[in-house]
Amino acid sequence: MHTYSKEFALIAKYFQREVAGTDTRSKNNIVLGIGDDAAIVDPPEDASIAITTDTMVYGTHFDDLVPADAVGHKLVAMNLSDLAAMGAEPTWLSLAVTCPDIDEAWMSEFSRGFFELSDYYNCSLIGGDVTRGPLSFTVTAQGIVPRGKEMRRRGARPGDRIYVSGTLGDAAAALAGQQQTLPVCETQQAQLNKALFYPRPQVGLGQALRAVATSAIDLSDGLAKDLLHVLQSSNLGARVDAGALPASKILEMVLPDPSQRAQLQLTGGEDYQLCFTVPESRRGSLETIAHQLGLDITCVGVIEGEPGLRIELNNQPFSLKTAGFLHFKD
Ligand SMILES: [Mg+2]
Repeated sequence: MHTYSKEFALIAKYFQREVAGTDTRSKNNIVLGIGDDAAIVDPPEDASIAITTDTMVYGTHFDDLVPADAVGHKLVAMNLSDLAAMGAEPTWLSLAVTCPDIDEAWMSEFSRGFFELSDYYNCSLIGGDVTRGPLSFTVTAQGIVPRGKEMRRRGARPGDRIYVSGTLGDAAAALAGQQQTLPVCETQQAQLNKALFYPRPQVGLGQALRAVATSAIDLSDGLAKDLLHVLQSSNLGARVDAGALPASKILEMVLPDPSQRAQLQLTGGEDYQLCFTVPESRRGSLETIAHQLGLDITCVGVIEGEPGLRIELNNQPFSLKTAGFLHFKD
């Protein structure tokens, strides 16, 4: 790992414990890991490499309210979620750290959160950089996917059903609670914060969906916005039943009004679940996959030929409020 100065080697040490000095092919086809000018990896035969990058900047994506291990966890989660949406198996990570000064305790916690999630998915840190400047982190994640088998945003067809994994809205509710636009008690806030701070990327589901899905995207900006990306890439439309959106028990408790809850679920973002389309003929295979993985998936709508996103609640047209105007206090 390249270091800015001797003192920054202190920070680098938190990220060198995995493949430092390794020049064997022991793990993830790494020929040469951290320690040279660049890492060398051998992709498996007949595999494509999916590559994605995400940045977290202090003051924009996190603040002092977010525990250090959560910043590390989330940085990995955001990247692995993008790989999951492509149907790729996460394999290699690179990390660029920029920080103004050294807070060893904070950095140690950050690296614990980072490796907890990356180790879980057997994803290796193969390179990095540490420099002085305003606090920010950038991860580049690479994953492998059988050649020609990746899922894309493009590919949905009229009649395909639209599914989402897990539940939607807890992370947005946590933010609304912090900003005091949604009344929640301390216990509820702590529970909702788990969804915001420690999202679980749908890595296993993403790979399994390659067999059945015609398109996929991960939910980072809110279902309405993310689904629009899918629709626009194929010049199609969709009808979505806002009443069918899966919600956690706690979200139903803090936002009992179905209309307000749907607003939050459709526009909130940061869910890191997958949204994907599956033809009716493959519904049985999809349900088998969900059952085998022990995951909840929910059909929330259908793809239509006419462009545009049509959302309904109780069979009535449902219009979205701009996220900035969402207020759930009254
Ligand atoms: Mg994405």
